[in-house]
Amino acid sequence: MYQIPWKTKGIVLTAPQPYKKEVSDVAEFIEKILVPSGVNLIVLQTRYRYRFQRHPECMGYDPLSLEDVQLLLTVCRRNGIRLVPKMNLFSHQSGIHNTPSDGILHGLASGSLDFPDGLLRAYPMFSEPYGDMEFVYSKHLCPTHPLLPSILFDQADELTDAFEADGIHIGCDEAFLIGMCERCRRTPPHILFADYINMLSGHFASRGIETMLWADRLLSRESTGYPGRYEASANGTEKAIDLISKDVLCCDWHYEKYDAYRSVDVFADHGLRMMVSPWKNLENAKAFLDYAAAHDRGHIEGYLQTTWCSSGELARHYLYGAPLEWHNMPEIVRTLNELFLSPDVIGKSIVP
Ligand SMILES: [Zn+2]
Repeated sequence: MYQIPWKTKGIVLTAPQPYKKEVSDVAEFIEKILVPSGVNLIVLQTRYRYRFQRHPECMGYDPLSLEDVQLLLTVCRRNGIRLVPKMNLFSHQSGIHNTPSDGILHGLASGSLDFPDGLLRAYPMFSEPYGDMEFVYSKHLCPTHPLLPSILFDQADELTDAFEADGIHIGCDEAFLIGMCERCRRTPPHILFADYINMLSGHFASRGIETMLWADRLLSRESTGYPGRYEASANGTEKAIDLISKDVLCCDWHYEKYDAYRSVDVFADHGLRMMVSPWKNLENAKAFLDYAAAHDRGHIEGYLQTTWCSSGELARHYLYGAPLEWHNMPEIVRTLNELFLSPDVIGKSIVP
């Protein structure tokens, strides 16, 4: 198990799927596997999968009930774990399920199948148009739509109330579509992005709730050296790093191996706090953690391990030794076993 020098040890779990009766297994997984491993933060990737009372028309597929949330919350409270819901409030508003399904609509590079998530299914008018872009990885919300905040905040407030949360993770990763519509077109992307983030984080701060986000849009591809357009911005949003509230907690995700993870230094330079968020590859995750530990200027809050898989599948594996189904699971489980979980709790985990 990796010995972190930080106060927070967290994991991003996908909300369990009620139709597969996973909620109690995931609660047991938290108590028997994550608690002995020192976890004190769970970011529950929920999106629109909650039985909203105020806007039931936006309910996602296979939603959690209030009782489901309360069961998870009770286990977390009893064990000193901070439970934070994750609700994408900008990008990743559509996609397609993995096989087998983990309950989440993932981005899809081919764009051939693209199901809208709860909000855009009910209100397609909130979608930012794509213009002549070659493909749509996932749909996005238009940050300047005048009717968006009233519905979005109703939903986010209901979700954070259900979780009795002092934090919310608002996603914002891989936001490729910005400034496309008539309203947004004349405003620079970094202004659009910063104004929108500050509107959201200001609203949550007024309710005593900390805002977390995936921070790739705040990084310049040129200055960090991260390739591609996923983990650093190539669409002009990076200058927002000087405009967003310093209260926002930046979750810095990188899944590949680099000699230097320059984003760690960039967030320190700009006075922003961050979390270190690797994924499935053991060697890459360790390289990122090592770099962050060596370059921490007091701005790193902790380690936030991502999973991007079914929490029910994880629970069944660790509790009952169930075989792994999704093709990325062996690598995810190997990294969890080596870096994240206590050796005392991984007895039933046999990775092929
Ligand atoms: Zn727009």
